[in-house]
Amino acid sequence: MHKIESVGIVGSGTMGLGIAQVCALHGFEVHMTDISPTLVAKGVDTISERLAREVSRGRMTQDDSEAAANRVKAEEGIEDLANCDLVIEAIVESLESKLSLFQRLGAICKPEAVLASNTSSLSISQLAGASGRPASVLGMHFFNPPSALHLLELTTTPQTDASKTAAVEAFCEALNREVVRVKDTPGFIVNRLLIPFIFDAVRLADTGVAEPADIDIACKSGLGHSMGPLATADLIGLDTLVQIGNALFEDFGEPRFKPPVILGRMVSLGNLGRKSGTGFFQYRGS
Ligand code: NAD
Repeated sequence: MHKIESVGIVGSGTMGLGIAQVCALHGFEVHMTDISPTLVAKGVDTISERLAREVSRGRMTQDDSEAAANRVKAEEGIEDLANCDLVIEAIVESLESKLSLFQRLGAICKPEAVLASNTSSLSISQLAGASGRPASVLGMHFFNPPSALHLLELTTTPQTDASKTAAVEAFCEALNREVVRVKDTPGFIVNRLLIPFIFDAVRLADTGVAEPADIDIACKSGLGHSMGPLATADLIGLDTLVQIGNALFEDFGEPRFKPPVILGRMVSLGNLGRKSGTGFFQYRGS
């Protein structure tokens, strides 16, 4: 069976950093890249800071934290991922960008490498086709933040090689993921249910039915959710949320998947949620 020891991650945003941190903590060598070396260098620093915080909270030893941080390498470009056993794509949720990336990954990566996408809503089959080696491609949908949420939606296509799937399943076990298998369908399981729910919460806030804080309190206290839908929107990132909604709406054509207009306006103003410091709520030190 193909054994996964080194992991390439493309995209050092919200998810790329979280996935890199989890892989490094579980002993895997991580090679990370983004559109610019500055962004990746910043990402590697963020991971070191997060791991150092775990030490100050008493959750990890200094040695373990440093060892994990040293396993994450900033790379100049995707050519530097050519020898990785698994490459996980975590770039912006744009079909065009992902298709072009998979085409390049297919040309660059070693023949036995597994190519995975962390997409929330786009078609794994389309990415597999673009790569020119569909047997190597599958979907690994991590949850945000990967350090706390262990679910992973695993998507294969009819052409995915069974030995690649087995290698990824073993890798997921090593990362302590709870794997659910789901067909290649937009939004998989969780986002198919979650996105319309979040959009309804946004509409409640936007039409003045209730304040954002009260909507979230209602869902936490009344439904037992650990996080309210609007705090979840801020955590996902409002730009990513709009892209996911647009992709689901395009595929299903159902109005419930259409992003409320207010979300696009917030994104235009740079209010992206946690990552920008302002969304439905305010965040410090993000
Ligand atoms: P993000 O905006 O935080 O980060 C995206 C990163 O990709 C940025 O650093 C950007 O510079 C980089 N990038 C864009 N185009 C690139 C390219 N061509 N090559 C290399 N790097 C590129 O986005 P995110 O929230 O991390 O989402 C990334 C992916 O993960 C998306 O497919 C999204 O749907 C999925 N996802 C997001 C969440 C979430 O809660 N945010 C959860 C699960 C999955």
